[in-house]
Amino acid sequence: MTADVSSTAASLTQNVPFNVPFRAPFELDNLAAVLASAHVHGDGKFTASATRKLRQITGAPHVLLTTSCTHALELGALLLELQPGDEVILPSFTFPSPATSVALRGATCVFVDIDETTGNIDPAAVAEAITDATKAIFVMHYGGVAADMGPLLELAAEHCIAIVEDNAHGLGGSWMGRQLGTIGTIGTLSFHDTKNIHAGEGGALLLTDDVLMLRAEIMREKGTDRARFLRGQVDKYGWQDIGSSYLPSELNAAVLDAQLAAFETIQAGRHRVWDAYARELPTWAARNDVAQMFVPPDREHTAHLYYLRMPTEDVRDDFINHMRGRGIATPFHYVPLDASPAGLKMGRTPVQCTRSARFSATVTRLPIWPAMSDDQIARVIDAVTEFAA
Ligand SMILES: *Cc1c(COP(=O)(O)O)cnc(C)c1O
Repeated sequence: MTADVSSTAASLTQNVPFNVPFRAPFELDNLAAVLASAHVHGDGKFTASATRKLRQITGAPHVLLTTSCTHALELGALLLELQPGDEVILPSFTFPSPATSVALRGATCVFVDIDETTGNIDPAAVAEAITDATKAIFVMHYGGVAADMGPLLELAAEHCIAIVEDNAHGLGGSWMGRQLGTIGTIGTLSFHDTKNIHAGEGGALLLTDDVLMLRAEIMREKGTDRARFLRGQVDKYGWQDIGSSYLPSELNAAVLDAQLAAFETIQAGRHRVWDAYARELPTWAARNDVAQMFVPPDREHTAHLYYLRMPTEDVRDDFINHMRGRGIATPFHYVPLDASPAGLKMGRTPVQCTRSARFSATVTRLPIWPAMSDDQIARVIDAVTEFAA
């Protein structure tokens, strides 16, 4: 901490936002290099470099950059050949992207409840929802804390169904030593600027299967074998399959590559904030019947979120107002998909998702970003502990 009086005074009066996107060294240099080159479209040297870094971090044998996590999920739904009549099991408490990628194929979303201790899909609820039409389970690792993968992998093997991991929050996280995004059949990442690593917008598809990879690279390039052509494996390229244009330009890849070069700095900065909240809030939480974010011991999290679960929705709303009054943004999170307009129309909910509804109604998230100052962290902790339910 610097003892700079003017910056301390400024930080006492400035609002504390929920998130400040990280600016990595070399972003501008990389962008300038792309703009000065003749290669601004996708799959140039920054795409190759960012892809290599992602393979190193995740250990995934195959990584394809995409324009978003949503597009990576769409690619996943195409690879699984989902079609009308097929069912896909999803948690009620997640972002709409996995559901909309299923619905785009004409398949049916089947929403199930979550485990309230982590906010992740509940394997027991999945087991009850499996039918002969079930083709896949879409899992999301909330806040970068792995879902309970053991029983999910057993169910998938027993019923021959695929697991898709929406790992938008969990780059670098693990479950029993296995990297998130590489445990199921298909994994996806997001590089939206609300995520730990970002390129403004962006995403990636992670695969372990060589055959799926051959098809994925065709589907990602408008259904053409251009990737094979660029590697010199065919002497011209053409239309081979269905697909779309899911590859990001080198401008996005240039920013992403700079961010990935700073991966450890970014993660260390986020963990510093996360650890301060975990350390300083237990006494206040116990006194106010608040549950702090929980990480089971067999999982390494990514400090993507730090959330609190308040005793009731009214207390949660009072808390958000209290924090807003002190200039601190502590937003709520996902609205249950089973109760959303599209979910009601295009989904099926075999058992009411009461735990998801309660989690959604009581959760609130504290500010977290890599360059948060000690002053800002202290201001958040002071404001939280001033609140009495
Ligand atoms: C952000 C997010 C997405 C969507 O990511 P985009 O890259 O914006 O498409 C999907 N799932 C979850 C859980 C997310 O948090």
